[in-house]
Parts: sequence; C-alpha cells; structure tokens
Amino acid sequence: MPSVDTVTGPVDAAELGLTLIHEHFFSADEVVSRQWPLMADSARAYELARASAEAVKRHGVQTVVDPTAAMLGRDVRALAQLSADTGLRIVACTGIYTYDQLPRFLASRSADFMAELFIGDLQAGIQGTDIRAAFIKCAADEAGMTRGVQKVHRAAARASLATGAPIMAHSHPATRTGLAQAELFLEEGVAADKIHIAHTGDTDDLDYIESLLSLGVYAGLDRYGLDYLLPTAGRNAVALELLRRGHAERLFLSQDFSVPIAAGLAWFTPEQMERSRASGATPDWSMTFLFETVIPQLRRGGLSTGDLETLMRENPRRWLGGA
Ligand SMILES: [Zn+2]
Repeated sequence: MPSVDTVTGPVDAAELGLTLIHEHFFSADEVVSRQWPLMADSARAYELARASAEAVKRHGVQTVVDPTAAMLGRDVRALAQLSADTGLRIVACTGIYTYDQLPRFLASRSADFMAELFIGDLQAGIQGTDIRAAFIKCAADEAGMTRGVQKVHRAAARASLATGAPIMAHSHPATRTGLAQAELFLEEGVAADKIHIAHTGDTDDLDYIESLLSLGVYAGLDRYGLDYLLPTAGRNAVALELLRRGHAERLFLSQDFSVPIAAGLAWFTPEQMERSRASGATPDWSMTFLFETVIPQLRRGGLSTGDLETLMRENPRRWLGGA
C-alpha cells in the first residue's frame, strides 16, 4: 500500500479519506514576517486557522493538502501544531511560489541545485524538522514561463523524477499557461499522472481544459469562491460538463482559501478584503463553501455519489499515493 507523508507522519494513501486538495492555513510575505515580525499577529492567525480546520472537520474532511511553498510563507511547524491540536490530517509541500523572479541565491544557481533543495524537503524534512513534504509546488501566472519560473519547473520535474513525488502547478488559464507547464514536465520525463495543473477551473474555455486533460494530467477546479475570476455558476457548468464528458478521474474540487489573506492579515488589508466581499468579488469564499453551497448545487445538476467519491477521495489518493 503506498504511503503519503503528512505533517504528523506517513499514512496509507487509502486512509486520506475525504480530502480538500488545495487550501492554505498559513501564508505570509516572507520579507515582512522575517524583517518586521511585529506586523504578524500570529496568535490571531493561528486561531483563525484552527477555526477553519475545525469547520472542515465538521463536514467530514479528513485531510487538507496545503500547497504553501517557499516565498508564500511556508511554516511546517505551525501546520504540525494545527494538525496535532485538531486531529485534521495536513499534507505539506516543497517548491517555490513565484510568478517571475527568484531570490538572488537561487537565481545564480542551477535547476539541479534547486531540485536538491526540494529533494531534501521530500526525503529528510522541511525547515530543519523531520516532517517531509509529499509533493512539489510551482507556479506560472500572467508573466508566463519567465527564466525564473522555468527554472523552478525544471527543478520540480527533476525532484519528482528522483523521488516519485507528484507536482502541483499554479496556472493562469486566461493565458493558457497550463499547456506550457504540462509540456515542460512531460519533456523532462515526468509521467502525466504525477502532474496536477491547479486553477484550471478559473476558465470556462472547455477546449483549453480538454487539451490539457488530453495530455493525461490532473486539473484543479479549485478556486470556488473567487467569483472575480469565475463565478460559482460558471465553475459549476464547467465541472458538470467535464463530468458528462467522462473526465471525473482527472479533476479535483477545492477553494484555494487562504486563511490569512481572507482575514486581511497577508496580501491585502482588512478593508480591501471587506470591500472584496461586499462588491461580490469573493462574497462566499471560505474553507467550507464547497460543502455548504457548491456540492448541493452540483448534486442537483447531476453530480453522482460515485463521481463525488472520485473527485474528493480517489483522485487525491491516486495523485498523492501514486497508485
Ligand atoms: Zn493556492
């Protein structure tokens, strides 16, 4: 039975159970958290993360996959504490979250050097702990496959080949980055079923989504609640049509909810987040929106019990467990 590393140790992949594949409990701008630590209300951030963890547990969620990588404020000790306090299983990652530039230290070093850092996180442990990453995160956005972004993707591919770990890639469907990302991984020799192109559900361009799926990769319908990118009705129409076309085995449902961002503790101010909710940009964004609203709507639209099991239990088990 394949096992998956969680922040409280390895578990059989079959034990992951109901899984949210893409949510963030902690995130931060690393320059701020390191240089102006007084700006971080870490007690409040922890209590809010704990409230979200308890809330998803009440909906039967057993595992949350948290793709908070380096440059997004990864804090594996906080995740381990949260998991120990709540009993929620949490899966952590290695990788680098950037849309363009790299830290100078890494800009001057090779993709293979970077891959060794990722391999260390996957095999020895993250941030000086013995808590191992279970997957590799990278990102491409509107700026496309810049030099720095390409280097992270190549490093992710090589770390995946060396360890068998799967890859999750943040993408920007409006500029169809997913195809270039998937093609780079495939060219490096990564198997399609190790590749997960996140945020694919931000578009209703079914031709683009199916051209990605035709490569054999996974696609995340993982930003429910970010209405400014695509409102829920549009996301649901895409999900139901993809299921009707037989793609259940390559799709994930999640919300990309970030506890600190939603609370105005990170990228945006509390006032900006309040305006975002009030204006309809993110009116319902939470870590439980799927269960309260989206899944009942999808069920009424024809989502079967079997497909739901596939999306939220079997696909996470197969992608993370490699079987
Ligand atoms: Zn995310």
